[in-house]
Order: sequence, then C-alpha cells, then structure tokens
Amino acid sequence: MSYFHRFIFISTMCTWLTSGVSADQGWWMKEPIRWVQTNLRETDAAMDPATFIDEIADFNANALLMALGGISAFYPSRVPYHYVSPYIPKGRDTFGAVLKGAHARGIRVIGRFDFSKTHKDAYDAHPEWFFKKSSGEPAIYNGLYQACVNGGWYREKAPEILREALEHYDVDGLFFNMFSNPASDYSGHPLGICHCDNCKRLYRERYHRDLPDAPDADYQAFLHDAAVSMSETIRQIMRAQRPNAALVGTSPEIGDMVFSESNTAVKRPLPLWPYASSDNVNRARNTYPEKMAVNQCMSFIDYAWRFAMVSPAEIRTRLWQNVANGGAAAINVHGTLEQEDRTALDAARPIYGWLKEHEKYYAGQYPESRVLLLGGGGRGFGTERAYRGMFRLLSEEHIPFGVVDDVKWIGHRDVELVIATGRVPKEMEQYVGNGGHLIIAGPTEPPMDMGKIVKRWKDPDGAYFRVRDTQMFPSLKSVDVMFMYGDYLQVDAKGPLTFIPPSMYGPPELVHVDWKDTDFPGLIVKEFGKGSVAWLPWDLGMLYYLHSSEAHAGLMRDLIDSMLPQGRQLKTNARPQVDLTLMKQGDHHLIHLVNLSGHSDTAYFKAVPMTDIEVAVKGVFHSAKAVRSGKGLAVSMRAGYSVFTLPLLEEYEMVELR
Ligand SMILES: [Zn+2]
Repeated sequence: MSYFHRFIFISTMCTWLTSGVSADQGWWMKEPIRWVQTNLRETDAAMDPATFIDEIADFNANALLMALGGISAFYPSRVPYHYVSPYIPKGRDTFGAVLKGAHARGIRVIGRFDFSKTHKDAYDAHPEWFFKKSSGEPAIYNGLYQACVNGGWYREKAPEILREALEHYDVDGLFFNMFSNPASDYSGHPLGICHCDNCKRLYRERYHRDLPDAPDADYQAFLHDAAVSMSETIRQIMRAQRPNAALVGTSPEIGDMVFSESNTAVKRPLPLWPYASSDNVNRARNTYPEKMAVNQCMSFIDYAWRFAMVSPAEIRTRLWQNVANGGAAAINVHGTLEQEDRTALDAARPIYGWLKEHEKYYAGQYPESRVLLLGGGGRGFGTERAYRGMFRLLSEEHIPFGVVDDVKWIGHRDVELVIATGRVPKEMEQYVGNGGHLIIAGPTEPPMDMGKIVKRWKDPDGAYFRVRDTQMFPSLKSVDVMFMYGDYLQVDAKGPLTFIPPSMYGPPELVHVDWKDTDFPGLIVKEFGKGSVAWLPWDLGMLYYLHSSEAHAGLMRDLIDSMLPQGRQLKTNARPQVDLTLMKQGDHHLIHLVNLSGHSDTAYFKAVPMTDIEVAVKGVFHSAKAVRSGKGLAVSMRAGYSVFTLPLLEEYEMVELR
C-alpha cells in the first residue's frame, strides 16, 4: 500500500486524536504505567522501607501509590492537628525513605491523602470545620470525625498540609481518597446532608432557600461544585510547588488521571459485570482523551473483608481489560505486599512482568472507534441496565466503540454513529445535521421531531414486535415476531417493525388467538440535514441486559450496519466472549483481544482457549504481529480490509498492525 493511502485511512479514523506524545504532556501520558496501590494501615508506618521497595520492584511495578498524610501522616509532619502515625520508629521518615528508595529504582511515587476525617483534638478545637448531621451531631466513625468539604479542615488545613508535604517530597503525583462529603459511612449508614454553618450559608447564597431534607439535583450540583473548587485549590498548590506531579482521584474534570475501581461487594445485587474494567477505562479514555485512566483492580472481595481476595482469573481479566482500553495496569492491596491471601498478587505478578517486557506497546495508546455509546448509569443518558445491555451487545458484536459521558466531542472527533439508551442531549441535533447517524434505543422522547407521542404502554405482558421489512433485517430471516417488555412509546409514524399489543396467553387453547396487528412503529427512521436518526421507542438495552434475546441482538446488528455507510472498522469471526478493542499508537494500530470465556455465573475461571480467529480491519496494512504469542501473522487483502488469522487466543492477545 502507498503511504498516501494509509495516511487517508488514519486521518479519517481519528482526526481529533493526537498522533502520540507531545512535549507538554505529563509523564502519565508518555510512560507505560504498572501501578500498585498499597492502602497502608497506620501500623505499617513501622515497616522497613528498603524491604518494601524491594517487593514493589520485584513485582515489576513502576508506580507506587502510598500513604502520605491526612488521617495518619507517614512522615514527621509539623502542622498542628495533623496526626502523625505513632508507629513511625523514632527518628525515621517512612514516606521520605520510601520515596528516595523508589526513585533510585525508577519507580514513581504518588502520595495518598485522605482529608475526609481526622481526630478528636481537631474537632474539639474547631467543631465548625466538620460535618454536622441534621440532628446537629458530628459524624464519627471508629473515633474519627468526618470533615465537611466546605469547612476549615478541607479549606484551611489541607492546603497547609499539602504545602508542607510538597516542600519536602518530590512526589510524582498526589491521590485524594474519599473526596467531598460521602452519602454514607464505611458501614453503609446514611449520613444525610451536612448541616454545618458553611453549608447552610453557601446553599442559601446560591439558591435563596434552606438546605433540602434529602439530596436533590440542586444539592448534587452544590456538592459537585464544592468538590471541583476544592480540587482547583489543590491543583494550584501542586502546580506551584511540583509542576510535574499528577493530580489523581478528585473531580475527573480537573484531575490529570481519571481514577476508578473495579470491585465486588458481598451485598451488591447480581449479576456480576464482567466488563467492569473495560467499561471504566473505555469511558475515561474516550470522555477525557487527554487524561490517563487508572482503574484500580480491587484485590479484595469487599471492604469488610480486605484480606480475602477475589479469584485470580477475575484479577487477570480486569488487568488485561485495563491495558486493552489504553489505561494503566493498576491493582490495590490493603497493607504492604505481605498479604494473608497471596493469590491476587500471584495472579497479577506474571502480567506485570510481561507488561514490563513489552512496555513500549502500553504507552501513548488512543482509542480510534468511530462508534460512540452515550454513558448511562447515573451519568444521565440512560439507566445502568440499558447502558450495560448495549455495552455488552456492542462488545459481543465486535463493534469498536467508545463510551462518552458528555457531548464535548461534537465537532472535534470523526464519529459515524452514536448510540443512546436514554435521554438524548439537544446538542445531538447539530451532530446529526452535519452528517452524523444516531440510534436511540429507549422510551424517552428525543429532541428531534420523530412524530407525535400517542400513548405510553407500560409493561405490556405478551406484547411483540412484528418484522415487516425482511430486507432490512437479514439476521431475522427466521424471526417474524420478537418479544418486548418495559415501556413502549406509541408514536404517530410508520416503521419497519410494528407493535402487537397484549393478548390472551392462557389457557394454551386461547394463546394469542385474539392477536391484532397494528401499524404502531417499533422503529422509526428519519433523515435530518445530512444525517439520520433511528429510534426504537422501547428499552432494547435493558431487555438485552436481562434476557440476551438473539432477535434483539440481530435487530441491532442489522440496524447498526444499515447506519454505517462506510462499513464496519473491523469484522471478525471471534466468539462473542472476546472483548476486542482497536487502539492507535503513533503510526500503527493495536488490536487487543481479551478472552472472557472464563466468566461463568458468579465465578471467574481460566479462559477457554480459542483457535483460528479471523480479523479483518478496514484499510491497507503490511504486517501483523501477535505480540503475546510472539508470532508474525500473514496479512491478505479482501474488499478494502486487511485480513489476518490468529491461530490461538488464550486469556489475552494483542496484535500490532502496521
Ligand atoms: Zn458542611
């Protein structure tokens, strides 16, 4: 292929993405990151720093997140009320010694602060700094007093502590735990809204009324903005004293790294979400492409059992998903690496070793999908179920996609198709008008005129959609009707699927003998400007999340293909359990394949090996190399796609395409 052709291919795929490293980016965007977070107990301040650093280095980590201060200082702080761990041996500076030893071994150190709570002497001297429950009582947990993000512990003492620490230590970053006011304590007891004088005054100044009894949208915005302004204060202090250090774990809008966790919880409702790491990192790297994603793989089963680990296969799939989506490898343990249950670290260690050997591939990756999924689950664009159903469906269909939590990409990124599972932001009209395509799956009226709403059907038992246009849906050649449940918006329009309202479903002699077909549409397709919108006014994502109907998957598959005028970026015969991502790194492309076949019900086992996976990528490429298995793969051309076959996929593979 000519250089010219490849250039065209790359430029149309990712016009907005930087082609790699630029000089003003921080170390976190330029270096591969193998991150270990040790949540140290105050007793761990007695550790031998040299042994600790040996263990981190042997683990092949190159970034260490370690306690610095806040609830317990791991250095001899002189700031009044900043509690210093009494376990630090006399004359020693535990944090300082670790920092020095780590830097000597090429390991970056991110200091951890937790300003959410502190000790009684601070509360006794300044009760106005602290969280006040509606009863007027402070919020106390295991003897520690909850601070308020609008109070003096955060606003006066935290900056003083930060300035002291940054003056002494050349940290590579700072991490802030439990930022802002929590809704509940560690035991899950709700704390309600803070009623301290600062919160009361600031809320009244902003909204001209008293604090609500329970958090509403205004209060959420109030608290969000408080966290953002506190983050900004921290950022300014850091930039002034340590301009090359990364800010982690505060508001994602302000931090340099977007922090998240893949975790389990004993009381969390099932099912498990086996895409937890892909979801978090995909979302972070696509919503904030200029920032690094650190998605912490939480080693333990739940907060109350921090010394009992999740299964090794779960640890491994999370780590592979992190790096496959362009994020850091990141794992957390409580305490030092000397664990009571060593299985999580044993599972991660060989991955860290392999990632170190191949580290040139794990820096400067950028997602290059031309399909976007609007984020859901509390991000405002759809329920979590609908969002996750669509996320899984897209992964199973091997359609490279990016998750975005906002619409800032409009006008900056070359996007062919956007999929929404709930509320559609008004700005999408601009995107569609300029030639974009949009699929909406959900019973929420979009901002564009798709027809008048006639009626909302709620949970119609025994309702179906009939396939009227068989040409449009080749995957449904054996399907004339598909089930529907949940809400359906009947719209005054026509479409290729039509609604069959509820009818009799018992006894068997009478089942659906009273069926009455309608012309109420289950799908409406309309053109606007240079683009188009397809609206399924029912909750396909939620239904797929719960029931995985092949008919629903086939419907989406054909609809997506009909709305990708330039065809898919990638085609493959891989099984649905292969989570596949397409990334760009410099002038070449990386295709990651994570084998999720080890996930079974509530368990994670070793992935089932898969063979002879054919992958076709749009564009002309000369060479393909399976990096994990160390094999060069033959590349042939077929109708505009470069095709290679991967002989074997165990739990993970990455193919470099040039
Ligand atoms: Zn308050």
